Amino acid sequence: MPETKVVLTEKELPAQWYNLQADLPFPLPPVIHPGTMRPIGPDDLAPIFPMQLIAQEVSRERWIEIPEAVRDIYRLWRPTPLYRAHRLERALQTPARIYYKWEGVSPAGSHKPNTAVAQAYCSAREGVKRITTETGAGQWGSALALACRQFGLECKVYMVKISFEHKPYRKLLMEAWGANVVPSPSPDTAAGRAILAADPASPGSLGIAISEAVEDAVSRPDTRYALGSVLNHVLMHQTVIGLETKRQFEVLGEYPDVLVGCVGGGSSFAGFTFPFVQDKLSGKAPHLRIVAVEPTACPSLTKGRYLYDFGDTAGTTPLMKMYTLGHSFVPAPIHAGGLRYHGMAPLVCVLYDHGIVEAVAVPQKPVFEAALQFAQSEGILPAPEPSHAIRVVMEEAVRCRERGERKTIAFVLCGHGHFDLASYERYMTGQLEDYELPQSAIDEALSLVPKVEPRV
Ligand SMILES: *Cc1c(COP(=O)(O)O)cnc(C)c1O
Repeated sequence: MPETKVVLTEKELPAQWYNLQADLPFPLPPVIHPGTMRPIGPDDLAPIFPMQLIAQEVSRERWIEIPEAVRDIYRLWRPTPLYRAHRLERALQTPARIYYKWEGVSPAGSHKPNTAVAQAYCSAREGVKRITTETGAGQWGSALALACRQFGLECKVYMVKISFEHKPYRKLLMEAWGANVVPSPSPDTAAGRAILAADPASPGSLGIAISEAVEDAVSRPDTRYALGSVLNHVLMHQTVIGLETKRQFEVLGEYPDVLVGCVGGGSSFAGFTFPFVQDKLSGKAPHLRIVAVEPTACPSLTKGRYLYDFGDTAGTTPLMKMYTLGHSFVPAPIHAGGLRYHGMAPLVCVLYDHGIVEAVAVPQKPVFEAALQFAQSEGILPAPEPSHAIRVVMEEAVRCRERGERKTIAFVLCGHGHFDLASYERYMTGQLEDYELPQSAIDEALSLVPKVEPRV
C-alpha cells in the first residue's frame, strides 16, 4: 500500500515566499486612487499598512526571505501534511490519484494564519502596537487574534453584527487569544456612529466593518490595518502552501495533472497554485490544469466582468482591476461565508484573463453532499469553502473512471468545518437551498461600477 501522507521535517519549511509578480509575462494593472485616477503610491498607503508590506505589494523580487521569527511560529503547525485520499478514491472507484494539502492543522483551523503571522510580525517590527481588522464569520479575525498574541500586539476586530450575534464561537476563540471584538456597526468610530444613528438595528456588513477598521487604524499613529485576502502580499505569504506541496510531490516522485482550489478572495488558491503556475509559465508543466471553484451564488470569475472596481461594498477603497460582480452586489446567504466576495484577487484575475487558470461555479447542495462523502471516507469534516473544491475533484475523478484515465489530482483543503456544524445541520435536515444568480441581478450591480480611465 502506498503512503497515506507525506510529512516534511521542520528543516524543510520554506525559507522564502514565492512572488509570482517576478515571473508574470504580462503587466499587472495598477491600483488606482479614486480621487486622482492615478496609480496609488506608498504614501497613500502608509497610514494604513506597515511599510514592509507596502514594499512587498509591488515587489518584483522572485524570492522574499521569510523572517526567522515568522518561520518559528509557522513551526507550530508547518510543514502541513499532503494526504493521499485512498479511501475517497476507493469510494469513487476511480483510477485517478487524489491528494489534498491539509491546512486545517493550524491553531485557527485554516490557512489564514500563514499571512496573519507575517503581517503581525511586520507591524511589530515597525513599532506598531495595535492592529485592526474586520471579520464576517470570524475565520480571518481568529487568525489575526492568534498572530497578534504571538507578537504582543493588541488586536481589535470589528465583527459584522449579525455574525457576532448568531456565531458566538469564533468570537469566543478570538477573545480567548486576547482580541477585543466589537459588533459592527459600533459606537467606537464615526462611520459606525453614523450608521447607528440612521438605523440602530443595522445588522452590519463587511463593507461597514472595513470602514470602521480602516478609520480606527488611520486615526491612531500606533495602529495599522490588516487584510486577510485579495492583496498581492497576502497571496505571496500563502505560497508556503504550494512550495511545500511541490516538495512533497518530489518526495513522491510525481507531478500533478490537475490542481483545484476554492476562491473567495483567492488567497488559499493562489498560495497553493502559484509555485506551480511558475512551472506553467516557464514551459515546464505545459499541460497542468489549474481550476478555481466558486459558488453559483457568487460567481465573480465565471459571470463577472474584468473591470476597475472598489474592493469594499461601501466604495471607499482604491480601485483594483478584477473580475467583479459589482461592489454593491450582495450575495445570497450561502453557508460558505468565505466565498461571498464580489471581486477577486487581481493576480488571480490576470491569470484567468490570460487563460492560465480555469474557473467553474458549483451550487451549495452538491457541495455539502461532497463534503459529507469526504468526511465519511477520509474522516476530516471540511469547511464549506474547500468543499467546493472537493465537489469538483470528485467530478473529475468520476470522469477519470469513465475514460479510464489515471490522472493525479490535488486540491487544497484550506480549513476544517468544526465551526460550521450549524450549516451542516441545515443541509442534513433538508433546509439548504441552491442559488443561481440571474444575469439581470449581475447586470444591475455592474451598472453601478464606476467607469474608470486610469491616467497612467
Ligand atoms: C477565508 C477562507 C476562504 C476564502 O478566502 P480565500 O482568500 O479565497 O482563500 C476559504 N476557505 C477558508 C477555510 C477560509 O477561512
